[in-house]
Amino acid sequence: AKNTGRGTTSFFNAELREQAASHIELHHAIMLGLKNGEFFIDYQPVVNSKDGSLHSVEALVRWQHPQHGLMPPKAFIPIAEKSGAIRELGNFVLNQTCLDIPKLRKANIMGRVAVNFSSHQFYDQMAVDTWFEILAKHEISPDNFTFEITESMLLPDRERQRDLLLSIHHKGIQLAIDDFGTGYSSTSYLQHFPVSMLKIDKSFVDRVPEDKHQTALLTALIHMARALEIDVVAEGVEQVNQVEFLNKHCADLIQGFYFARPMPIAALVERYGQ
Ligand code: C2E
Ligand code: CA
Ligand code: CA
Ligand code: CA
Repeated sequence: AKNTGRGTTSFFNAELREQAASHIELHHAIMLGLKNGEFFIDYQPVVNSKDGSLHSVEALVRWQHPQHGLMPPKAFIPIAEKSGAIRELGNFVLNQTCLDIPKLRKANIMGRVAVNFSSHQFYDQMAVDTWFEILAKHEISPDNFTFEITESMLLPDRERQRDLLLSIHHKGIQLAIDDFGTGYSSTSYLQHFPVSMLKIDKSFVDRVPEDKHQTALLTALIHMARALEIDVVAEGVEQVNQVEFLNKHCADLIQGFYFARPMPIAALVERYGQ
């Protein structure tokens, strides 16, 4: 297996590839992990670029596997998507954020919580109903949430998903386009969908401001979003010169290791709570 810098991950991937014939088995491993409490959530702050104050947080799922150690989402989300376990996993994430939101509010952390959704989770109205049942069970209002979805879910011909997204939006959940710029390059959907936020992928931020070409692209994306009055989050910001560039171009929101890594809720409360 190739060295990803996290030995356990590549080992696990290789092993999973060997088992590729058996999605049922993988599904079972994830379902068992959910039952055994092996999954948990880290929260990464999105901060205001001017002063580093907290704007919102993104929930990022992790798997503490009893044999393979800590698994990042890229090691199991694609498998969960194929096996169908993503539905239960997604419901776990939503349930856990509902448990955590009162703790955040108690510490005076008021921003929205962003939850990632893959297209495999948006299959029908029943799935959406389940999410609102989870929120209702915990008495958490939908306006506590942003749902992050990718561009591929917004293809204009996908009428059904469009209807589902509209119904979610009408309940008060904000929609963000994740990894913006990396997907299908038609931006016409921005006119047809109730999108409140664009999250510009790390690949557009990495070599800014040194790389002229990339800097021009990033600047264009920022200006387009501002013209459409959509919030912009620059993802994967690691360097102070990136922060300075984004500040200069009035990109107000930053998510990246420069300000904060994903962290457990206790650390979040400790650092940003009052
Ligand atoms: P994403 O939604 O684009 O999440 C941001 C990822 O970028 C996170 O990786 C985060 O740790 C990483 N990141 C943030 N700032 C920096 C930075 O400055 N430098 C670098 N190198 N990385 C940074 P993570 O937690 O490994 O998540 C990877 C992906 O897994 C996510 O990408 C998302 O697509 C998916 N994912 C995570 N949680 C869930 C979930 O609950 N449901 C679904 N469907 N997907 C999830
Ligand atoms: Ca995301
Ligand atoms: Ca992203
Ligand atoms: Ca990404």
